[in-house]
Formats: sequence, structure tokens, C-alpha cells
Amino acid sequence: MEIFHISAECYPVAKVGGLADVVGALPKYQNNLGHYAKVVVPGYDNQFIQKNEFDIVHKGQLKLGWFEFSYAVLKEKTNKLGFELYQIAIPELFDRPNVYSYEDDTERFLAFQIAFLNWLTETNQYPDILHCHDHHTGLIPFMVQHSYNYHQLKNIPTLLTIHNGQYQGWFGYDKLHYLPAFDLSKIGYLEWNGTINPLASAIKCAWKVTTVSPSYLEEISNHANGLENLLRWERPKSLGILNGIDTDVWNTKTDAMLSENYTLKDFKKGKNKNKEFLCKEFNLNPEKPLFTFIGRLVGEKGADLLPQICSIALHQNPGEINILILGSGDPHVENELQGLQNFYHGNYNAYIGYNEKLAHIIYAGADFLLMPSRVEPCGLNQMYALRYGTIPIVRRTGGLRDTVLDMGDGGFGICHDQTSVFDVTHSITRAIGLFQETKKFDEIRKTAMQIDHSWDKVAEEYTNVYQSLSK
Ligand code: ADP
Repeated sequence: MEIFHISAECYPVAKVGGLADVVGALPKYQNNLGHYAKVVVPGYDNQFIQKNEFDIVHKGQLKLGWFEFSYAVLKEKTNKLGFELYQIAIPELFDRPNVYSYEDDTERFLAFQIAFLNWLTETNQYPDILHCHDHHTGLIPFMVQHSYNYHQLKNIPTLLTIHNGQYQGWFGYDKLHYLPAFDLSKIGYLEWNGTINPLASAIKCAWKVTTVSPSYLEEISNHANGLENLLRWERPKSLGILNGIDTDVWNTKTDAMLSENYTLKDFKKGKNKNKEFLCKEFNLNPEKPLFTFIGRLVGEKGADLLPQICSIALHQNPGEINILILGSGDPHVENELQGLQNFYHGNYNAYIGYNEKLAHIIYAGADFLLMPSRVEPCGLNQMYALRYGTIPIVRRTGGLRDTVLDMGDGGFGICHDQTSVFDVTHSITRAIGLFQETKKFDEIRKTAMQIDHSWDKVAEEYTNVYQSLSK
């Protein structure tokens, strides 16, 4: 089958979070199954576009309301990512380094979606599936169905994957004229709670909706930033499919970013080397358990509680544990986390920012990874941690519930029920106990490393969904 993945992110082209990892891996595994999967993302002015070579395969001129823009579809020359990668360059809107958080994000992603559909129609391409990811591509199912310009694409099945239902991309009716002319009687398919809501529109118009874990599908029927009723209504066409991880990238034996590679046979030595590197770099004590956090410093991840969790845990266990934080986000949380360095010198450190290489070394060198998330649609960090022999400490929610079983229930992780300082510090105490029981700790780490979360199986699940649609 010919599949187009349309997304704002794709690893290693442009990454903010897990969306990139999924879009950078799933198509490759679909191609391994004999499909023809391609990826389309905007042409950001970042290192990837600067350091790689592209062919211009199409050019056009379009309008967003009164605003005229030109676009060019660039195809990466080598297909080295395991799929054809297309980047749509729109100079006025995407010649900037970051993926999101500009005032004109509405205009940016609308222009991207319109340019994509124009490219398809002008070059007479009829893929078997349009697979849209999150709200940035959420108006495609509507436009394909109801915009006059794209009438010829009407029969192509559309699939929406919700990676994060909190962000919906809504905008006001004052921007309605940005959309190419459409059947006005269908305007209700754009709307939710008085605004144009791209995620809601995609939930209504896509032929199928998937979430990135089965538990998340259950949860968003009750908590989805206002979309609960809609999701309940559209439940019959919805399905939860747990993400996989790219085992080519996340492989302890070959990961070039690690300080030392290792396998199941020599994992203790390998993990220790990575831990020593981290402890040297961040002035920590290699003899003591190393707790870490990697991620966006936002409320969804429970990051606002981290300063308190860290100070209580470090205070309760003076000199007995290390904590290392890698993340960026809420400036207030960033400041507090940085400030803690003054109080717990030698046992605590924080790297505020985004650092892919450091993240890999932390997954390898840490003993425990904290994930006190309030919302976790799937969560990839815990899967990377498990594969690298690091024990996840997670709140039972969304994909964390689906992937981590508590050691008390015969599992390989440490779980708690609430995103609260008490629950997390209690879990840290349990973890210290485990760290001291060397034999049990090693057994659990070995079990964790052998869990198979690769994309192979998951890619087949998507194939089944596509096939049910193309029938
Ligand atoms: P989300 O998409 O909600 O941010 P996920 O768990 O799905 O969370 O994916 C997060 C991804 O982003 C992982 O690959 C993680 O390692 C990476 N990541 C998050 N923050 C950072 C950071 N500051 N530096 C490096 N990698 C990060």
C-alpha cells in the first residue's frame, strides 16, 4: 500500500518529543513489510535541511486568505531514513529553526496542509492512505472531504493518530477564510465549542482514529481538554495502538551516542561506564543510585513537582542518592531545578535544554528513570529506559500503565497511582531498597532489557487498520 504520513515532526529531521520518534520509525518498518510509506513534514530552517541534499520535485503558488505564498516540495536525495522524505518549504512561514511556538502557528500549519493537498492534486497522486498525526495536520480529513479543490482525493481513506489530545490547534472564525472554498453546509465538521478546532475536526472527519496506547483511549473519553463527548461519540471508529520503539536507533550494542556500548551479557559493566561518565560530567557520586528525569518540563509530565520531589528525596537520603534532570519547558520550573544545585552539590544536577546525545547516555547510565506524568498518551522514555536496563518509576496512567508492571506484581518497574510528592518519594524509597538488593536488581534489569517493544508487530497492526479502510 502507498501511505503518506503527514506530520509536524519526524526524527531526525525535526524533533520536539515522541511524535518525531514515531513518524521517524513507523514508515521504515512499514516499508520493511513491503509497503510504500513516505513522510511529509514542513521545511524548517534547521540543521537537517542545511546538511542534506534535496531535489525540488514540485513548486506552486497559493493563497491563505489574502496572503499569497509560494511553496516548494523538496525530496531528500538518498532515502537514507528508510523512507522517502518530503519537506514542504514555505519561505515566509517555515524558514525558522523551531517547530512550534510562533504567533502564526495557525497560518504556518494551515499553509503546510494546503500546500500538501495541492501538490497531490496537481501531480495526480492517489495514495492508498493519508495518515495524519496530531492537530497540525488535522484539517486534511475535512479538506479532502469537503473542499472543492480536492474533490479528486475524496475517496482516499484518512487516518488520524492522536499523540497528544491536550493540544488541539484551535483558532477563531476570523481565520475561516484561510481554508480553501468548501461546502458551507459542512461547517459543523470544523467546529468545537465555538472555535475552529483542527483536532476535533479530524476526529469527526477521519475514517479512523487511533491513539498511541489503549489506556489513553480509555482516559481521553473522560479527560481530553474539552473533547470528551466527541471522543465518546466517535468511539466506534477509534482504536488504541501502543507505539513501538526504533530498535535500530535504540540499541545498546550499536548506539554511537553512548560512552560505552553493551549487551545483555556485559550490561553491568557497560551501564557502569556510562554512569561513571555522567557522574564525572555532572559531579555526582557513582557509588550511589542515580535517579533521572528526561522530558518537557510541563504540568502534563508532573514536572512542576520535581523541585519538591528532589529536595525531599535528597533531604531524606543525605549523600545516599543522586538525581540528574534533563529537560526544558516552564521557565519557573527550570529556575527552581537549576537553583537546587546550590543546595545538594555532589548529589544533584540539572541540564536545562534539549540534548539528544545526553538523553541516550542517561538512559544507559541511570539506575532509575522518574516519570510522574499526569498525562502520558504513550510515553517512549520508559520503553527506552527498559531497553537500556534502567528501571522506570512511573505513575499508572496512559501508556505507562500499558507498558510498566510493578516489581511487586512480578514485573520490572516501580509504579504509583498519583502524581504527588508523597507517591514519588515513596517509590524512590522502594527503589533505594531494590538498588541495595544487588542480585534482584540485576535480574530485574535483565528482564527489562529483553522486553520487545519493537515496531515490527505494531507496524502490522497499522496495516490491518489500513486494509480495513481500503476495503
Ligand atoms: P512527549 O512527546 O510527550 O514529549 P514522549 O515520551 O512520547 O513524550 O517522547 C519524548 C521524547 O523526547 C523521547 O525521545 C525523549 O528522550 C526526548 N526528550 C524529551 N526531552 C528531551 C531533552 N530535554 N533532551 C533530549 N531528549 C529529550
